[in-house]
Amino acid sequence: MPVRHFLTDDQLDAILGGLADATALPVDLADQVAAAARETSGMGYAMAIAAAAQGDKAFLGALPSDRASRFRALRPRLRMMLAALGGGITYQCDHADEIRPLYLFCDPPSLVCTQPRCITEAGRNARKVGFRWDNQCDGCGRPAQTVFPSLATLGPLTISGHVCKLCADEMGKTAVRVSAS
Ligand SMILES: [Zn+2]
Ligand SMILES: [Zn+2]
Repeated sequence: MPVRHFLTDDQLDAILGGLADATALPVDLADQVAAAARETSGMGYAMAIAAAAQGDKAFLGALPSDRASRFRALRPRLRMMLAALGGGITYQCDHADEIRPLYLFCDPPSLVCTQPRCITEAGRNARKVGFRWDNQCDGCGRPAQTVFPSLATLGPLTISGHVCKLCADEMGKTAVRVSAS
């Protein structure tokens, strides 16, 4: 079984601190980034509703503007993404290396574009291949008997995985919770 690596908060903060701040971008570029983010979060929201309708819970929402809160919201998503990328990603559709919003399955690590048919196909394949890390949280790597489906957005990337109670709570605190009523 491949080993996934989950970065510490300090390691994640070092990465986040090095990323370009959207407020430091030229205005026209910042507008484009904002428009792309709106479009992507809209798609994420639609998918979250769909996931919720199937009994899953989803965590997403706008990021807070102050640095400390933003880092806190970004850490679990970034940790999840980097662990999945380091776990041996397979590309599940031909669109995944084009410039478009992407959907990341944490386990088995796979990447597709956000077209519903590509996500459906990748989900079917994931069930066929089976989980690599049963009873391990996709968010922090802790062993977990019970895991909760999680859907989080990170810019143009939507991350789908199963997380432990601690990670679910942490993501829930920093995002809007969507669940089927
Ligand atoms: Zn595709
Ligand atoms: Zn966890």
